[in-house]
Amino acid sequence: MKRYDDKENWDVLVCGSGPAGLGAAVAAARLGARVLVLESAGQPGGTICAVPFMPVNRLRTEGGIRSDVHEAFVQNLMAVSPFAAYPGPEDRINGDGFCPHPEYAELAIYRMLDEAGITLRLFSPVMDAEVENGRVCAVIAREKRGLVRYRAKIFLDATGDGDLAAAAGCRFSEGKDEEPTDTSVRLQIVPEADTSGESREPIHMPITLGFSLLGVDCPRFLEWLSQHGADFREMLARADEQGLYVAAWYGFNHGTVPGVIGVNNGAWLHQKLTSNGLDSADLTAARRAGLRVAADLVTILRENRVPGAENCALDRAGSILGVRDTRRIVGEYVLTFADSQSSREFPDTIARKYGAIDANQLFIGTMDSGFAYPYRSLVPQDVDGLLLAGRCASATFLGHSAGKSMGNMMALGCAAGAAAALCAAQDIKPRALDAALLRETLQEKLGAKLS
Ligand SMILES: Cc1cc2nc3c(=O)[nH]c(=O)nc-3n(C[C@H](O)[C@H](O)[C@H](O)COP(=O)(O)OP(=O)(O)OC[C@H]3O[C@@H](n4cnc5c(N)ncnc54)[C@H](O)[C@@H]3O)c2cc1C
Repeated sequence: MKRYDDKENWDVLVCGSGPAGLGAAVAAARLGARVLVLESAGQPGGTICAVPFMPVNRLRTEGGIRSDVHEAFVQNLMAVSPFAAYPGPEDRINGDGFCPHPEYAELAIYRMLDEAGITLRLFSPVMDAEVENGRVCAVIAREKRGLVRYRAKIFLDATGDGDLAAAAGCRFSEGKDEEPTDTSVRLQIVPEADTSGESREPIHMPITLGFSLLGVDCPRFLEWLSQHGADFREMLARADEQGLYVAAWYGFNHGTVPGVIGVNNGAWLHQKLTSNGLDSADLTAARRAGLRVAADLVTILRENRVPGAENCALDRAGSILGVRDTRRIVGEYVLTFADSQSSREFPDTIARKYGAIDANQLFIGTMDSGFAYPYRSLVPQDVDGLLLAGRCASATFLGHSAGKSMGNMMALGCAAGAAAALCAAQDIKPRALDAALLRETLQEKLGAKLS
């Protein structure tokens, strides 16, 4: 394969442009860093754009501004079109969010990146890292033209899957672990959704294909649903017996466009909860089953003449599959379930996680909303020159699931991006960064709410 060298020497190179990558890129650029974002998909935004109108939760805190970086996203969303988004639901999992139209959200992201002077390259999966003397010094992206080497002072893994850190040799954990939990008081174990008869211990959260329906009278349908939950569940159970593809649960969010409704879901009821988001065979199976779930929901709603959805049709499926958990890279601190239950503060608190524990189909639980998040969870133990942000940051399974909403992931990104910019400017390793300086920078230069 042909090899190329990118000519630039970037200050900060961010891999992945989900909520964590966007938060990181904007924070670093606002602090003066020259930032490049490499994104594997043909669309920025990661899970923001994966399910139409899915609430991007915790972009604010109790309605107030969470950071200038979060607010840049919200304001661009508001500015790009009246059809771009509306305030999201408030319930035990969701809150302080906005439900975006995926393509308008994409336009808002481009505006935000342009405003900050950030360079974005789509279709650029990072598949390897060059490590010299324990420090990441370049990444290799597999592009259409060949393999391209990119150099930067500091690298940031916001790929969700921890692809860059794993390629650089970092240790990681995957799936549910044996962490002690106080189940009697605060945690509810959700019964395993799989009824296929094969006994197996669930390991991963489901892999979901989001989609949207059109031709729906949303107010009438949502009203019917709120009053006829039991009827809907019976309808689904019958459909499952008939061999239709039914999801473990459905979450409906009306669109900004008349007649369109977004459908988040818990994936096909019989999807193995051992399905691994790093395994192409499992991903292929999840995509195929996800499309069946979408098509069969249309059949179920039409055949049962569900009020408001009698004439519905499949609109579109999400542009990427929704993977909820894969690698969690081992960092200088491993965030735990116990941390999510305490009001413990750290000397290096650089973000907070709000909301609830939502380990989809494995655990739903409460947490101390707004619990503290330490900088050390963004610093991998095994290499230098690299920071983590978002889903792949250092945590136990439940430590990650506690407040895994997108606004929280953006806050981790914001902190990692600020740290990367400071390290690049001072030419120091992330583990040598003064956490007090990082906290001060986040609060004073990026308006981050840390207390
Ligand atoms: C189906 C589903 C439903 C959810 N529901 C909600 C909800 O309703 N509200 C909410 O707030 N949160 C929800 N979440 C949780 C939330 O979306 C995630 O926790 C969050 O998106 C994680 O952010 P991230 O930036 O770390 O990862 P991601 O959003 O996964 O973004 C990672 C990005 O990196 C890119 N990437 C991956 N590998 C590479 C590579 N090798 N090179 C370059 N780029 C790469 C990906 O294409 C993607 O753009 C849901 C998650 C899923 C999967």
